[in-house]
Amino acid sequence: MEQGGNPDGARVLAEAGRRRSFAVISHPDAGKSTLTEALALHAEVIDSAGAVHGKSGRKGVTSDWMEMERQRGISVSSAVLQFEYGGAVINLLDTPGHGDFSEDTYRVLAAVDAAVMLLDAAKGLEPQTLKLFDVCRSRKIPVITFVNKWDRPGREALELLDEVEQTIGLRPMPLTWPLGIAGALKGLIEVETGEYTKFTRAAGGATRATAEVVPAEVAAADEPEFWQTAQDEIALLEEIGATFDEKDFLAGSATPVLFGAALSNIGVARLLDALVALAPPPGEREDAEGRPRELDAPLSGLIFKVQAGMDKAHRDRMAFLRINSGRFERGMVLTHAATGKPFATKYAQSVFGNQRTTVEEAFPGDIVGLVNANALRPGDTLYAARPVEYPAIPSFAPEHFSVARCADAGKTKQFRRGIEQLDGEGVIQVLRSDRRGDQAPVLAAVGPLQFDVVAARMESEFNAPIRLEGLPYQIARVTNEAGEAALSSQSECEVLTRSDGLKLAVFSNKWRMDVVIRKFPDVPFEPLLAGT
Ligand code: GDP
Repeated sequence: MEQGGNPDGARVLAEAGRRRSFAVISHPDAGKSTLTEALALHAEVIDSAGAVHGKSGRKGVTSDWMEMERQRGISVSSAVLQFEYGGAVINLLDTPGHGDFSEDTYRVLAAVDAAVMLLDAAKGLEPQTLKLFDVCRSRKIPVITFVNKWDRPGREALELLDEVEQTIGLRPMPLTWPLGIAGALKGLIEVETGEYTKFTRAAGGATRATAEVVPAEVAAADEPEFWQTAQDEIALLEEIGATFDEKDFLAGSATPVLFGAALSNIGVARLLDALVALAPPPGEREDAEGRPRELDAPLSGLIFKVQAGMDKAHRDRMAFLRINSGRFERGMVLTHAATGKPFATKYAQSVFGNQRTTVEEAFPGDIVGLVNANALRPGDTLYAARPVEYPAIPSFAPEHFSVARCADAGKTKQFRRGIEQLDGEGVIQVLRSDRRGDQAPVLAAVGPLQFDVVAARMESEFNAPIRLEGLPYQIARVTNEAGEAALSSQSECEVLTRSDGLKLAVFSNKWRMDVVIRKFPDVPFEPLLAGT
């Protein structure tokens, strides 16, 4: 039956139901690239690990999309990996980290339906993981936890679970339990059924460990001590109520936990199975007024990221569209909700590393790369037939601040125009104050890469080279006029007004901020949660 006014309705619903779109949230070095490769390897998209990411010193895909990217050896544009597994279509969206951590990293989370929180067994929750988790929480994105590197010495499983529960209030629900402490992993026990899989590791990293289901008696006889400990711990899990509950997972209050070692491909298949079985398919997304758009309504989607070519020669821009409803067909002409103008999708592409293939059709949960997308901004909506506008993607708490000045006195007009344009595109947040004046706006970023992008684009696109002077601030809080007045007499902090009117109090560090907050108890200094 046709429900949303879309003749492809039944097919759209079936295809959407097969989609699992997720991102890995982790701290640098926890093993995201390794896990991504292992997931793809397991799904047999590529036949030898190492072909997905173009990290420096590593054999792999290097993108020529941005000159800067080449210099840094980072791969900003391995944006989406799509593969089929177990009847599902998996879309794995990249969340850039390290030096390429930026506001885009957060925005990716506007385009997923689930996340995998990847922890290093020796390190547990780390700062970048926490920041990204904040965004997941604010967007109510269900999170599956994968404890990685169990082949290396690390912390105790129960201690790690406790940390997750205590630090972020997420109730852990292990689906598997390791036999053997971190560094001496023998295999994994299915918590619910007791089934035991023994892993025998191959030498070297890029090959799979062999997995073999072994009867409990055999495992118990082979590893009597580890077996007893594991059984005791599993019994304890039940006692403390760490058992799986789908409702709590989908509501974002609990997280299924899996253990493994991405490098040896241990637990990776189990993670894929969990994604297929547990991660939600795309649901109906609400528009700016809170009205849900049916999955089988005519095509609609959200632009969550815009990648600008840094090269003067090809100034093209790719916008990434997450499809929220309907069937996408290459060549369809969509409406850009922000301007009401048509947008032709003749050059729709899928982006896998630097390989771009033309997309002929796509469904809710899928990501389509649109080239020549100069008018599109992160947070914009595109639709066909029936108008819709999705809520804008909020801007996130900046942690890096620099004053921008026009380096060429004859180019002030270009300077002003460029800053305004990049602000509008969401490349950077622009803050001002009367004291600093209009010639020296403060640029605020989530990651320092954003400054490099601004500097490069100001020069190449606007012909207005800039000088950047770092400011010693690290934290921003939302305040008001009272805060502005209060802070004018204080050191190591100031109040700046963002171009959307929001007043941000910025502080040199947390200690200084706490002192100021105590001094002015009646002034609001609200955290700019990563996701608000
Ligand atoms: P990313 O920064 O999160 O993408 O991390 P990488 O995937 O680049 O991994 C960081 C380092 O950890 C690399 O040297 C990997 O080989 C190593 N690594 C990743 N997963 C595992 C694992 O399961 N076991 C061990 N021993 N090392 C791992």
